Amino acid sequence: MILKNTDKNVEILISNELFKKLSTYGINEFPNEFGGFLIGYYSNDFKTLTISDTILPKVYTGTPCLFQRSIKGIQKSFKEFYERKPNQYYVGEWHTHPNGSTQYSSTDLQAMTNIVNCETVRITNPILLIISTNKTDVNNFRFYLYENGELLPFM
Ligand SMILES: [Zn+2]
Repeated sequence: MILKNTDKNVEILISNELFKKLSTYGINEFPNEFGGFLIGYYSNDFKTLTISDTILPKVYTGTPCLFQRSIKGIQKSFKEFYERKPNQYYVGEWHTHPNGSTQYSSTDLQAMTNIVNCETVRITNPILLIISTNKTDVNNFRFYLYENGELLPFM
């Protein structure tokens, strides 16, 4: 499927298969939040971002209204991934909102700001995907593009 961000004239491409995979990971943790890292690549003109994979955290806190992932123990996963697919890299984050909306929280916005300010991560426009789920299914989802302290939604 294709999602467009009209503010920035960029679009996101994600396969139904990968989206289903993320949703299933999330639903399996219901009623707690769950999520991970998004991997992908931009087209040559930087107008299309293809989300190609996810890496799941090994260390995380997931409660019904909070998800915090750590990068502990996943450096190896990233390294192996980059060796296998050198043109793909970390592009952002995803997490679920069990029985919640697809609106980001102030904690979510702060977490994205921290990522951009992190010196070891060289990324200025990370993506955030929020998937609202119930016990068995996806209610709704939304992608956001982080820019200068704001999260701009994709439609
Ligand atoms: Zn959230």
